[in-house]
Amino acid sequence: GKARSSGVDVYNFDYALIQRLANRMRILTALKKALTTREAFFLVLQPKVNLATGKPVGFEALLRWRMEDNTLCPPSEFIPIAEASGLSLEISEMVVAKTIEVIQRLQAEGYSLPVSFNLANSDVVSPIIFNEIHRCIDEQEIDASLLDIEVTETQATEDYTVINPLLRSFIDKGVGVSIDDFGTGYSSLSQLADLAATTIKLDQKFVNDLTAENKDKALHIVQMIARLAERFAFKLIAEGVETEEQRQLLMENGYQHAQGYYFAKPMPMDELLDWLAKT
Ligand code: C2E
Ligand code: MG
Ligand code: MG
Ligand code: MG
Repeated sequence: GKARSSGVDVYNFDYALIQRLANRMRILTALKKALTTREAFFLVLQPKVNLATGKPVGFEALLRWRMEDNTLCPPSEFIPIAEASGLSLEISEMVVAKTIEVIQRLQAEGYSLPVSFNLANSDVVSPIIFNEIHRCIDEQEIDASLLDIEVTETQATEDYTVINPLLRSFIDKGVGVSIDDFGTGYSSLSQLADLAATTIKLDQKFVNDLTAENKDKALHIVQMIARLAERFAFKLIAEGVETEEQRQLLMENGYQHAQGYYFAKPMPMDELLDWLAKT
């Protein structure tokens, strides 16, 4: 009867939910510990290339965390947990510092190309990170044009009136600002006209859709974004190129630069240097 089935419900926990929560706690505890030494974190670098020649035009630094069991925890898993727990500032500070080391190392090896890093959404407006980036550029005496900050379109336009002047101050100094995952947010045309950005990055979803079922719709979006970039004088790069067909379609539709597994995966520094020597 009723009483019996409600009795059964008491024991009918949502095990999936409990497991997710336990997993988050486990990651959070491990993350806090790992941040005390920072040794378990490293950047991998994905080349940004010229679509026609495959030659590098820059790199994106992507964070990796090796957990104690030696497995890699993906950023899509630990960054949101860090953001929700007030740890993302520490991560962003570390990423800024490591990106500057990367720039210096590449320069020492004879490669003076810009390196971008991703700024956690919640840190874009942080005065701490803002000051830290300015301080690092000044103190480390790196050429500001070798540094590029990626912020997502969603974040840049959501807090537009606050973020835009902050991003402008970097551009004024010569630093690049890339709008990541472009096409998935909701920039208004008036925001786009004065968006403090030097580059827009076409989201990989559209590149993927170019060779999927809805290809006509994706092609229109890809073309429209190329025209917007031209009209508003942004540099343009496509993310997530995996096939020759995608490479061709992008070239035919106004794109000169791209990133993607088709050209190169994100690599640790030593592997990148080998790749550069061969490319
Ligand atoms: P994102 O900045 O849009 O980075 C692009 C992601 O696409 C990277 O995944 C990259 O490895 C992957 N990717 C590159 N080429 C291809 C391709 O051809 N096909 C496919 N399917 N994927 C490709 P990753 O490294 O796992 O990073 C995921 C997201 O995590 C990033 O998206 C970024 O939002 C965030 N993230 C990564 N590193 C950092 C960091 O240092 N700080 C912060 N705050 N976020 C980071
Ligand atoms: Mg990015
Ligand atoms: Mg992206
Ligand atoms: Mg993305």
